[in-house]
Amino acid sequence: MSDAMVAAPASDAQSGGTQRVDVAVVGAGFAGLYLLHHLRKAGFTVVALEEGNDVGGTWHWNRYPGARCDIQTIDYSYSFDPELERAWTWSEKYATQPEILRYLGFVADRYELRRDIRFGTKVKTATWDEATLRWVLTTDSGASVSCRYYIMATGCLSAPKPPEIDGVKEFKGEVYFTGRWPHQEVKFAGKRVAVIGTGSSGIQSIPLIAEQAVHLTVFQRTPNFALPAHNGPVPADRKTLLDNDRAGYREQARWSLAGVPYPQQTTVSWQLNDAERRERFEQAWAIGDLVYILSQLWADQGSDVDGNALVAELIREKIRAIVKDPDTAAALSPHDHPFGAKRPCLDTNYYATYNRPNVTLVNLRQEPIKAITASGVTTDKRSFDLDVIVFATGFDAMTGAMIAVHPITGRAGKALSSVWADGPQTYLGLTVAGFPNLFMITGPGSPSVLSNMTVSIEQHVDWVVDRLIAMREAGFTTIEATETAQAGWARHMADCSMLTLHRLANTWYTGANVPGKALGVMPYTGGVGPYRSICNEVVSRGMLGFKLTGPNVAGQCNDGEIVRLQPDVRLVLNMMADMKLPPIETLGAQGARYFINEFNKARPAGRPVGEVVDSTLPGNDGLLPYRLYRPATPGPHPIVVYFHGGGWVLGDQQSDDPFCRDLCRRTGMIFVSIGYRHAPEHRFPAAAEDGYAATRWIGEHAAELGGMSGYVLVGGWSAGANLAAVTCQLTRDRGGPHIAGQLLVCPVTDCAFDRPSYNDNGTAYFLTRGLMYWFWDLYCSPADRTDPRVSPLRGKLGGLPPAFVVTCEFDPLRDEGIAYADALAKAGVPVEQLQARGHFHSSFTMVDVVRTGASGRAKMAEALRRFAGMPKQAEQSDEVTHRDWGVSPPQFNAAAK
Ligand SMILES: Cc1cc2nc3c(=O)[nH]c(=O)nc-3n(C[C@H](O)[C@H](O)[C@H](O)COP(=O)(O)OP(=O)(O)OC[C@H]3O[C@@H](n4cnc5c(N)ncnc54)[C@H](O)[C@@H]3O)c2cc1C
Repeated sequence: MSDAMVAAPASDAQSGGTQRVDVAVVGAGFAGLYLLHHLRKAGFTVVALEEGNDVGGTWHWNRYPGARCDIQTIDYSYSFDPELERAWTWSEKYATQPEILRYLGFVADRYELRRDIRFGTKVKTATWDEATLRWVLTTDSGASVSCRYYIMATGCLSAPKPPEIDGVKEFKGEVYFTGRWPHQEVKFAGKRVAVIGTGSSGIQSIPLIAEQAVHLTVFQRTPNFALPAHNGPVPADRKTLLDNDRAGYREQARWSLAGVPYPQQTTVSWQLNDAERRERFEQAWAIGDLVYILSQLWADQGSDVDGNALVAELIREKIRAIVKDPDTAAALSPHDHPFGAKRPCLDTNYYATYNRPNVTLVNLRQEPIKAITASGVTTDKRSFDLDVIVFATGFDAMTGAMIAVHPITGRAGKALSSVWADGPQTYLGLTVAGFPNLFMITGPGSPSVLSNMTVSIEQHVDWVVDRLIAMREAGFTTIEATETAQAGWARHMADCSMLTLHRLANTWYTGANVPGKALGVMPYTGGVGPYRSICNEVVSRGMLGFKLTGPNVAGQCNDGEIVRLQPDVRLVLNMMADMKLPPIETLGAQGARYFINEFNKARPAGRPVGEVVDSTLPGNDGLLPYRLYRPATPGPHPIVVYFHGGGWVLGDQQSDDPFCRDLCRRTGMIFVSIGYRHAPEHRFPAAAEDGYAATRWIGEHAAELGGMSGYVLVGGWSAGANLAAVTCQLTRDRGGPHIAGQLLVCPVTDCAFDRPSYNDNGTAYFLTRGLMYWFWDLYCSPADRTDPRVSPLRGKLGGLPPAFVVTCEFDPLRDEGIAYADALAKAGVPVEQLQARGHFHSSFTMVDVVRTGASGRAKMAEALRRFAGMPKQAEQSDEVTHRDWGVSPPQFNAAAK
């Protein structure tokens, strides 16, 4: 029987009884309205509870002058109903608050939503009742609510943050908060006004207040990046795209990174010269679109501090050009965070406003506010007499409105506030272990505020309602995330946070704007499309990570972690799976070589090094090509003899180019990549003997190559790591040269194929078991395979140079790499191991594709420098932490480490 049958009449809601419904929705903004519509359509009884006296949420409360959206309005709209889209036309590129509020009112009327919304009703507490398996919500007016499912659509930016300044109550003038703006017009004419705070709301309102006020004083603690909105009619190019294929446009948005359909930029900053970068920047500046400038300049701007610094400086240059007073321009120029790590703002005349004679900027970094007094604001240095103070101090974002319902009591009497004391823990940003049948829309751990929120809201609502329908059909009445799934999500969140620069700024994204709040990147940084695919995968894998129960059905719990791969590895593997490539071993050696060459052409160019020299050296049987990478620093440098991967069959001295460049830059060493001979034309031991011959020749000619004499280092990846390991054994046994250290990345070390990783990772991670068999067959006949020159694990290991051995969790070669490292250690060789969680065989050589491999490459470089007796290197740009930005580091949630 549906709970609808026992729903209380509306009168109960008025009289203080208990209203029974299937679902209670809290909030009537974009999320609450769509939920209500969708749930009703699906046949659930629903009540929505809203503190405000009408619909709109954000757009009901934020009525300050200049309030607008900062995602173009044609994108910042519902897309669930094409009829609705046809029925509404936006008047501007970025609609004003009144127009967005009208739109949400129009939606509420169109679907007759208001009849199921209790306005002026604040939810105070929520308690899970184990006996009835229902939530009980108490409110500040009218009936409490008993519901099977409790959905918090309470908003990410709906709990204004109180100002942290003494004396606000003493002030005798008018006080306004941008997030709780009065419904009647506020008049500033003839008044001395202060705006405290320069986030989005401050930046939007300051130019308009300055036009009216006799004097405006802006108190700024942290400058923010702002870009001109260039508002006006909806841009023709975007509108044409939408009109020509509305469904396609919306679908593209759903699978994009930020919820707006822009392509992924592939050109990296170092492929462009200054003039080309400036041209791209000027074009973006003229377009006036946040998502465009954040995603379309160059591929590394959002992920690499060096690529980001180029944009940041171009923006600071604009600020200096607009603001006439150099001191004011300097104070307005952000230096403490990467561009985009804190939400940038779209403005209209913001910087130019500081050229007005009636506007003063007070830099609180230089003169902090001491107190608010009856007559105004006093800083360390001055007093300001004021008639009006506007607080644009932002929100207790993401968690504030949820925690304000207090307590939310889940299983065993546990309160959400205590479960989240060290930071929010969720599964998918939708659910929390221990809180059955509770859902959050755009909760912490979902893309939410890093996306076009209408797209994220629709995805969440659709996912939740579809689950409730599926549960009803299957006879389940409770759903709850497991601890395993939730801990896995925290790990995945932490992995994703390495893909962007958000971790490097103290912002409301990390909770740093609220004193005492636990710190950590709260929104999901992996992107809207990847997130959507993960949510879909949870369903397709039998509600992975959820426990489902029902009165008349067997319970179901398919426990586990939804993403164990590093986020970028997952993307690469999915992309390859979508390409439906034939197995490489079916292409023949020539075909496979052609395929790998073409594949390599599509990867980002390696970063610049001091010099690249192509030449030849004598091998065991004729000349071998090599490519030498020299650092930009003055030499002589230690030399690393490098052997590329490719199963002794594929690749050449250039095929690991980005990896060699990266390690050359990180180590400050010369890398010489050897074009050794390949099978099947040259079978075992040709490659091994070439490796030895090349190393000996380089050792003898180190000085001519600009290197340090007396020793070399060796390194390699995959079959190349096999050659590096073999070379160490041969040089030990054949009288040199002296090898100071060996770097073995995912090495082939043995001819046995029965270790578990050959099975666990044998088919799904690009390097397959079948491909390895093929490589072995082409290179080495079975009779030769136990020879240490191809199976170094079977050789004598004592007296070998110190080793750094890297293995990847999802690699068939994982266990033989670990076995080799363990055997070296047992033989007394100094060994360090890096067992890389979530990585696959190609992770570390796919530089600038698998960005989560950066920290591993930094460790490899450190090891090589240690082997060569060089001092520890300063942190590389992709290893930068908060210290470099002059702000204290957020501590990430313990579980997310
Ligand atoms: C000034 C401003 C501009 C923005 N511009 C953009 C933009 O351009 N693009 C974008 O993607 N996002 C933007 N955002 C983010 C914006 O919050 C979301 O886009 C969207 O409006 C969120 O909708 P929602 O329904 O999830 O939450 P909200 O709109 O915040 O609605 C939540 C509702 O829940 C109610 N509520 C909360 N707690 C309780 C309780 N205990 N009891 C009863 N009711 C409760 C609140 O009163 C509120 O009405 C902006 C935010 C602000 C503040």
